Amino acid sequence: MHNQLTCEQVTALLNFYIEDSLSSKLTEYVRQHLESCPACMEKYLQMKNMLNKIMDIENEEIENPYATKQYEDFKSNLSAYVDNELNNFESIKIKKIAISNPLARQDLENIYTFKKLLHSSFEKTKNELKNDYSKSTLCQLRHENTDEKILDPFYKLTAAFFIMITCIVAGVIKILYF
Ligand SMILES: [Zn+2]
Repeated sequence: MHNQLTCEQVTALLNFYIEDSLSSKLTEYVRQHLESCPACMEKYLQMKNMLNKIMDIENEEIENPYATKQYEDFKSNLSAYVDNELNNFESIKIKKIAISNPLARQDLENIYTFKKLLHSSFEKTKNELKNDYSKSTLCQLRHENTDEKILDPFYKLTAAFFIMITCIVAGVIKILYF
């Protein structure tokens, strides 16, 4: 019993062979072909390696949804998504991840909440500034009013000086003529 399968047939069966879903007879044929054909053996090893990697990634995703490549992409695009800076394709991708990954969804909600908070605090600051502005304007108006009522100290001094001079002159005139 030797090489009952062609290379094409073996290549087509490799996936099933690795998953161990072939009949025992076919499994035996593939195994025999692989032992005698280095080219198919190479393909087999590559495919097995690739499938192991995929399985590792899937296991990793189950253990820690944060550690996946998809989630990393999501994280790096999240703020751009929230700011509407992504193209349609990219934002659909983000939406899909947010739907399928609960942690990603939580992140999206968090960033929206944060944005809302930021926005409301910005509004608050703006309003406070507005209040401060009207307050200071009112103060200025009040000061202008009081400034009008309170005479400038210079005028007060000048008036006192004139009164003093008048008194002296009147005194001198009184001494000289009476
Ligand atoms: Zn072969």
